[in-house]
Amino acid sequence: MDELIKFLDKNLEYINHEIIDDTIYIHVISNRKEAVCPFCGHASIKTHSRYERSFQDLPIQGKKVTIIINNRKMFCQNANCDHTTFAETFDFLPSKRKKSNRLENEIMNVSLNVSSMTAADILRNSVANVGKSTICNLLKKRNTNH
Ligand SMILES: [Zn+2]
Repeated sequence: MDELIKFLDKNLEYINHEIIDDTIYIHVISNRKEAVCPFCGHASIKTHSRYERSFQDLPIQGKKVTIIINNRKMFCQNANCDHTTFAETFDFLPSKRKKSNRLENEIMNVSLNVSSMTAADILRNSVANVGKSTICNLLKKRNTNH
């Protein structure tokens, strides 16, 4: 499992997992020594607090996957920065999102040639819990990006 987690980000460490119904819940923690403040770009090693952040990822062995990160809130150590704290962020997971980039790509692939209603049904069966409106929003966002 640790290897699978490292495909997402090599700084993530697998803690444990449990399987409930059709979903695998995987707990992970970041082992990065320092995190970079997204507001000023300064690296910080001072942890403010920790909280849990969960998101959906690609399925494993036909089971849906929810990953729970023990996420860090850091102090920004740059005296000139407007922010005193910031949350550790990851490339595979845009801030405030509940799905990894690679899962969003998979949802897009499934949704391209069918209606969003059909896509939601297909996805809910085997990939991830996703609603029709989420699919519409993703498609809209993709279209405006390109
Ligand atoms: Zn800062």
